[in-house]
Amino acid sequence: MALTLNTRVSELQGVGSKYEEKLKKLGIVSVEDMLLYFPRRWEDFSKITEIASAKAPGTYCIEGNIWSIGNKRSARRRMSITEAIVADKTGTMRVVWFNQPFLVKNLKQGDKVLLAGRVENKFGVVQMISPAYEKKGDQQKHLGKIAPVYKETEGVSSRWLRYEMDKLVKVIYSFKEYLPAEVIKRQGLIGYAAMIRQLHFPETTHQLEKAEERLNFDEMFLLQLAVQEQRKELDQNRAIAIQFNEDLSKEFTKKLGFTLTNAQKKAAWEIIKDLSKPVPMNRLLEGDVGSGKTVVSAMAALMVASAGFQTAFLAPTEILARQHYKSLKELLELFEVRVEILTGKTKKSEREEILRQVKDGEVQVLVGTHAILKEDLDFWNLAFVIIDEQHRFGVSQRAKLRQKSGSEGTMPHFLSMSATPIPRTLTLSVYGDLDISVIDEMPPGRKKVGTFVIPPEKKQDSYEFMRREMKKGRQIFVICPLIDPSAAGQATMELRSVTAEYERLSRMIFTDFKIAMLHGKMHSSEKERVMNDFASGKTNILVSTSLVEVGVDVPNATIMIIEGADRFGLAQLHQFRGRVGRGRYQSYCFLFTDNQSETVQKRLDAIVKINDGFKIAEKDLDIRGPGEVLGERQHGLPDINTKNLMNVELIRRTKTEAKKFLEKNNLDDFPLLKEKIQKYSGVANLE
Ligand code: ADP
Ligand code: MG
Repeated sequence: MALTLNTRVSELQGVGSKYEEKLKKLGIVSVEDMLLYFPRRWEDFSKITEIASAKAPGTYCIEGNIWSIGNKRSARRRMSITEAIVADKTGTMRVVWFNQPFLVKNLKQGDKVLLAGRVENKFGVVQMISPAYEKKGDQQKHLGKIAPVYKETEGVSSRWLRYEMDKLVKVIYSFKEYLPAEVIKRQGLIGYAAMIRQLHFPETTHQLEKAEERLNFDEMFLLQLAVQEQRKELDQNRAIAIQFNEDLSKEFTKKLGFTLTNAQKKAAWEIIKDLSKPVPMNRLLEGDVGSGKTVVSAMAALMVASAGFQTAFLAPTEILARQHYKSLKELLELFEVRVEILTGKTKKSEREEILRQVKDGEVQVLVGTHAILKEDLDFWNLAFVIIDEQHRFGVSQRAKLRQKSGSEGTMPHFLSMSATPIPRTLTLSVYGDLDISVIDEMPPGRKKVGTFVIPPEKKQDSYEFMRREMKKGRQIFVICPLIDPSAAGQATMELRSVTAEYERLSRMIFTDFKIAMLHGKMHSSEKERVMNDFASGKTNILVSTSLVEVGVDVPNATIMIIEGADRFGLAQLHQFRGRVGRGRYQSYCFLFTDNQSETVQKRLDAIVKINDGFKIAEKDLDIRGPGEVLGERQHGLPDINTKNLMNVELIRRTKTEAKKFLEKNNLDDFPLLKEKIQKYSGVANLE
């Protein structure tokens, strides 16, 4: 049988049905899959050290003859020890393996072997501990060379994979090059097949470096192509150009009662400029909680209304929709702009009336939850969509809004707002199809929130402190973590931890204060009542799940308690902290944890010391990867190496190359390349 890339691994000798299932777990079904299963790292055993020079503690690869080998039992620890003496012309080395008595069947006295491993010097006894081994003579696969180390699964070791890969070498050159020749030439890359070969069987460190370079380049280049193609398509749409009304903008800022920060002015200007163009805006407005994004978006909506067009404002939750509705109404009704709200809870009669007014153009700004997109909702002339706490729009969401917009042949302008700072490298790569405005400056007078990590023995002191603050009239948030986020019934677990904490605090600690709780299983009207009670100062403490993470604004709250702080991501902790320090009082954030491990302490220390949301997001990306930082739904990334996503130089390089390539070429002329990009197009399309 001829071996090809399509051959199923189950047909290979030495694999068979026994390994078939195991390989499937690694996503390997065909020979092609197997060859595309790249090592995670490499061990450089290419340099052989003479035994005489391998006596100082360290890791070495040595070559020699086995003088003696045998098993013995350690009485004390009840384990089997295999002990050997290996010699080369410069000296001898004692070698031990633990619990591998079968080794003596394989390695015999007189065998010439290569060994790689750690050399220790304990109480004057120098020995090599549990080294990797290989007999000299058979074609070297592990030692005396740079050896690939794969991600292993039960029964499939790197050692086994090296043997199997070896049998596939000859089909590697059936892999077709998919990168255009001009790109390869400009970038000085090695070929695709050569890359695959060098990754599995590196000949020299230099060749391996070239192979890794190509691998990383491809990953980010394909991503850039996908993202830029998406942008190109968007830019082919038409939008309604909204003229800038300078007098009105001046009047608006005058009526605010405060001066916009420079960052707000800059963001507002960028948005207004986009609106004035006949192509749809596709912009993300980022800013820490409380940085004043809503005011900026309201000003943009005012411009749109004054030009005679409608704006839709979408929020992720009912509570937030109401909050935005309130602020927009206050800001815009001074200018006779009609603002209405539509949510799942709007009464039927009222809803019909609002739907009619939206359709007839009597309502100029419609606030609602994301769910209103599902409604049989038609606009008179929708020109602008603001969407809160969602980084970007999917293609299908856009299509829906376009249908509803009532403006024939045009696409609304889109502005996303997010308080989740996206690490700069991600905005360059994954978010390359978006223009970005950042509000990186807080309104004046905000005090830095004092942040402290509180071990269990200090908890009592914190409770005393909380009591004193509440006596002064201040309010407190207490956030409870998921006990086990991976467990089934997430909402149930959340509920349990919130309820327990609520009971404990109200019955045992703060019996003389009013405490309320908030969790996902509550009915939305009840949630709203609880939130309103807290916002109006009727309750002193709000015990909650991460629900309060987004949006809510209670300037009188000065303490944020986070139970089990070690269970949250850094960016999330930062969000929680942003809930306090919004008024004129000095505020505090206490991170409760009973986890004393060094990694946890270090992580929490970062929150204590760093106050810049972007720096925190970058740390989080490094620690937890993009999926966790952005949420699966937000990025839809295929398996991209986090290191690449953080590599600014690589991002710049691939971005420039993608631009250059797309300027002169049409992807349709490169079918192989186009096919490769499919995998990445979900990033831009959210589908
Ligand atoms: P974000 O949506 O970014 O979290 P908001 O727009 O809700 O922030 O603003 C938070 C609070 O700060 C609001 O009460 C708002 O009126 C106020 N605010 C916004 N901009 C300024 C400013 N430049 N100076 C003073 N207060 C401001
Ligand atoms: Mg907000």
